[in-house]
Amino acid sequence: MGNYQIQCTACGQVYPDTGSNECPDRHAALQRTVYAAERLHCADLPGMMRFYNWLPIHHTPAVTAGPVTYKSEVLATPANWQPGDKLVVPALKSKAEMDKRLSEGYECKDWYLCFKKI
Ligand SMILES: [Zn+2]
Repeated sequence: MGNYQIQCTACGQVYPDTGSNECPDRHAALQRTVYAAERLHCADLPGMMRFYNWLPIHHTPAVTAGPVTYKSEVLATPANWQPGDKLVVPALKSKAEMDKRLSEGYECKDWYLCFKKI
């Protein structure tokens, strides 16, 4: 399994991963992962689990499938989106669509980036 520890970038203390992402001495600093292996060896496992010895995990999940991603064809949430914020709609394909969106209250930054309140 991934053999690693966590290191505080403020004080340099190296400690076991407890899942808290906080230095035991409570420094408000980035906590980095320190790996025992200096070289990446790919395992014969699905998806990103091929790199498990460089992942901050203690065991591999007991599944046979790899990670799943989904491409939205309708709406997407921008970074740091919060419930109630506007959503991103797919890019336009014509000037006529842009004119229609503007008349329907969409907020368009450009032809490829329009937002809609749901
Ligand atoms: Zn610290």
